[in-house]
Amino acid sequence: GLVKWFPVKTGIFQNKILGYVKAVDEVDFEIYEGQTLGLVGESGCGKTTTARCILRLVEPTKGEIIFNGIDITKLKQKELRKLRPKMQIVFQDPYSSLNPRLTVKEIIGEALDYHGIAKGKELEERVKELLEMVGLAPEHMRRYPHEFSGGQRQRISIARALATNPDLIVCDEPVSALDVSIQSQILNLLEELQEKFKISYLFISHELNVVKYISHRIGVMYLGKIVEICDSEELYTNPLHPYTKALISAIPIPNPKVKRQRIILEGDVPSPFNPPQGCRFTPRCRYAMEICKKEHPRLIEVSPNHLVACYLYQS
Ligand code: SF4
Repeated sequence: GLVKWFPVKTGIFQNKILGYVKAVDEVDFEIYEGQTLGLVGESGCGKTTTARCILRLVEPTKGEIIFNGIDITKLKQKELRKLRPKMQIVFQDPYSSLNPRLTVKEIIGEALDYHGIAKGKELEERVKELLEMVGLAPEHMRRYPHEFSGGQRQRISIARALATNPDLIVCDEPVSALDVSIQSQILNLLEELQEKFKISYLFISHELNVVKYISHRIGVMYLGKIVEICDSEELYTNPLHPYTKALISAIPIPNPKVKRQRIILEGDVPSPFNPPQGCRFTPRCRYAMEICKKEHPRLIEVSPNHLVACYLYQS
């Protein structure tokens, strides 16, 4: 039931609320231990806001976020600080997410020091160990971010996230800014680390191929709502929601002999400031019915572990 609405203010003193941007609206999903949940959807569909709410980098408007059995929306900042080491994030842009004035040792060591995990010599040893884990050399710790390539910088970001032994890492488009050849190296690294340390990932991307590669399960978001969620393979072989079908049909097949009919969606994504009253996909859906305009369909399980929010699958 996670909700995040941003008020849109007006007036000279910005003291009148004109309405709300419904960025995330009644979103439900689970991330299983040691697994990856991919979250896909177009830009502005609420993926990143959902992730930031989970980490409480933005305060949710409503709803619960249960992490290891605790509803973290109820925690005060002081209690939350104790939990922070267990939840980390890797950002999209490795060029802006690392402080250019700090050495690699300082960047990675900051988290260790702040959370009281290691200091002095012990901190240095741990930084060396983390660099080796992500495929960099211990001597890299004396260098600055500008001395590294994009892929290497993302490895530093991953080492920083790993420093506190997290249970969950939110990967917010971690390979979107990288060359295709480097993307697979980073994805393989994330997979290896998951296997070794049983970390759970929430992996956000708008690139379906990337999400398919790394995810055990995938949730599809459209205009602040989850419209479908199921196992990764099932989503690609048996997509149910009309929006998912259109997304899947757009993935190129690397075989000229195999043809797939492309589903072209008409129109633009409506504004989250004034979304359609019923199913958010109604204005673009070729199957829209009268009921679709009245109320957004609930996300229901239509086959084992395959949930979809669409009246085509509800009696
Ligand atoms: Fe289309 Fe209706 Fe299903 Fe929405 S609920 S996707 S409008 S058929």
